[in-house]
Amino acid sequence: MLEKPRIGPWDAETQKIPLVLVDAGHGGHDGGAVANGGIEKHLTLAIAKRLRDDLIAAGLRVVMTRETDAFLPLEERAALTKKHGAEAFVSVHINTDGSGSSATGIETYFSGKPSLAAMRKTGKTGENGTTSEKLAATVQRCVCEETRAENRGTKDRDYVVIEEATCPAVLVECGFLTNSEEATRLKDAKHQEKIARGIASGVKLFLQAKPAVAAVLAEK
Ligand SMILES: [Zn+2]
Repeated sequence: MLEKPRIGPWDAETQKIPLVLVDAGHGGHDGGAVANGGIEKHLTLAIAKRLRDDLIAAGLRVVMTRETDAFLPLEERAALTKKHGAEAFVSVHINTDGSGSSATGIETYFSGKPSLAAMRKTGKTGENGTTSEKLAATVQRCVCEETRAENRGTKDRDYVVIEEATCPAVLVECGFLTNSEEATRLKDAKHQEKIARGIASGVKLFLQAKPAVAAVLAEK
């Protein structure tokens, strides 16, 4: 397969294309969830890479927080939204059920009311919470349609990685590693593709609702 062209730095024309920051949860010494023969950090990276490819195919620019098995603190991941002027941020994670193995499905988190500390740090206002909620709803709907996974809805939670982002930001829990059937699906390349495609559709739909962005995407 041909190698994808490296993206960035960008010229002035390219700068107009909205940039999405894609975050593969965990990495390095932080493996995340481990169950049923799967390790979260590897699954999130596999899904995130597919998501990157789908977003680029949809005409968007993408930066990833990590492209290798590397550790990056949550604050640094969030700070990349400001550094790159991202218009949307998606953090990819895999869920665990602390009370057993029965839970399945997908849920998407947003930070509805960023804390004062987070607002001071990022310079953003509460308005970001409303747009993050919209992004979460759109992504959650699309990813569940695409995967036919159980829809566990969207949830408001002040996770650092989304709370400190300077743009609409969501964290998608793509399924439960603690459920053996879902773990098998999560390790399957075809299912990973469906998850990525669903998230990408949601992000694109969300961005297209902004007139300035729609105009740039329509030119392509
Ligand atoms: Zn995680």
